[in-house]
Amino acid sequence: MIKFFNSMIFKGVVAHLLLFVILFMSNFDYNLIHLSTFIGYYLFSLVFVLVFLNQQHRMIVNVSKQMNDIKNGYLNRDKIPKGTSKINELYEEILKLGEDIVRTQNNLENQRNQLDSILAYMVDGVIATDRRGNIIMANKSALHYLNTSNELLMEKNIVDVLKIADQYNFYDLLEKEPEITIETHDAGNESISLHIKFALFRRESGFISGIIAVLHDMTKQDKAERERRLFVSNVSHELRTPLTSVKAYLEALEDGAIDDKETASSFIGVSLTETNRMIRMISDLLTLSRMDQDRIVLNKEIINLIAFLDYQINRLDQILETESNDLISSNFTLVRKYSDKPIWVEIDTDKIAQVIDNIIGNAIKYSPKGGTITIYVETRERDVLISIKDEGMGIPKSDLLKIFDRFYRVDNASRNSKVGGTGLGLSIVHDIVKIHGGTIFASSEGEGKGTTFSFTLPYSSETSEYWDDAADDFE
Ligand code: ADP
Repeated sequence: MIKFFNSMIFKGVVAHLLLFVILFMSNFDYNLIHLSTFIGYYLFSLVFVLVFLNQQHRMIVNVSKQMNDIKNGYLNRDKIPKGTSKINELYEEILKLGEDIVRTQNNLENQRNQLDSILAYMVDGVIATDRRGNIIMANKSALHYLNTSNELLMEKNIVDVLKIADQYNFYDLLEKEPEITIETHDAGNESISLHIKFALFRRESGFISGIIAVLHDMTKQDKAERERRLFVSNVSHELRTPLTSVKAYLEALEDGAIDDKETASSFIGVSLTETNRMIRMISDLLTLSRMDQDRIVLNKEIINLIAFLDYQINRLDQILETESNDLISSNFTLVRKYSDKPIWVEIDTDKIAQVIDNIIGNAIKYSPKGGTITIYVETRERDVLISIKDEGMGIPKSDLLKIFDRFYRVDNASRNSKVGGTGLGLSIVHDIVKIHGGTIFASSEGEGKGTTFSFTLPYSSETSEYWDDAADDFE
């Protein structure tokens, strides 16, 4: 109702009425006599006034509708109202303004979408705060690194979230823009080391609107750097020990031991063993280095894994029969637990033979009392699993994952003293299986309870059947 009283039509009608009242009063007697004519004029002009006002009213409603649409980011170019040229001009101006606004809005929207996808796909975490340090934005990586959700993070102070409140308050971050490293657990519960850089962000006026923190996961870099240092120290240590003993024997020989034939021959024997061990180690290191640099090219061929395993086991059986010394006890039995149905796989036979040699070699080395070494083969959906089980000294659970690390040997002097390994064999085996697209793992019930090494090789039953038929055709 109030809206109606305020409307242009109502006000126009009232103004028109007032005008006619004044006209009527100004010549009261005359108008009273010609009352019907006067009322006729009044009604006639009222119709004009109403038509005019209604047109203006519709124009203004259209303009205001258009402005409302623009406000909501939508521009309707079809509504072209009729009206006075001034209002049409105004309408045209509003249309232009609307077009500019909608264009700017679209640009802003595009930029925001671009920024959102950049932030979403960034590996580094990004956190933005307001000028009091309360978090207003965090990307997916930041949430992952800090193991939190957007809801939990919003409005929290950045120094509390990063748990650095004991060293910095928010104003320190603003003033010093420090670079810090924190240790934390990510969403996968992995412990990670995060390097964090802070930068202020200001408005054009120079006014500080908040701070941006960029979180970079340094875990892999740190680990690689630690491993590199450890590797250099391991190589130096592993080579220094045999070199020192060779030097000591050579010095003893020089000091006269050479004259005692028996002692001299024993010293030379030990020196040769140590030298051979160093040569073995260096050749293992070269193999690993070639694999690290992806310089190993696999010479793959499609072969029947069963026939290949039979051949390798027969060969090792032969060696066990002929070569019995104080390192290799003669009472080993190699048992095959697999069907003779062909399994076709694509492998580098030299490399996989090296894997089998190494695992069975270890089974022998670390089973001082001999025993049965059983070889199992199992085809699965996408791979074939080869397991080699011994009845030897076993491996403590805590060492099971580490034995594939370079130079790692289970820390037990008695187990390594006789066999003099390099601690590199299983690293090479691991890398060979990996470049074939397989995985390797060890399991053991613990010390003295034997060990099982299992590794997989890619396999597909369809391809295998195809080669089965092809082999039959060939025969
Ligand atoms: P090494 O040259 O010392 O044998 P490897 O890399 O081949 O080096 O093996 C690493 C360590 O894993 C060995 O030193 C040994 O302690 C342990 N190990 C490997 N195979 C076996 C096994 N079959 N039984 C018990 N321990 C094993």
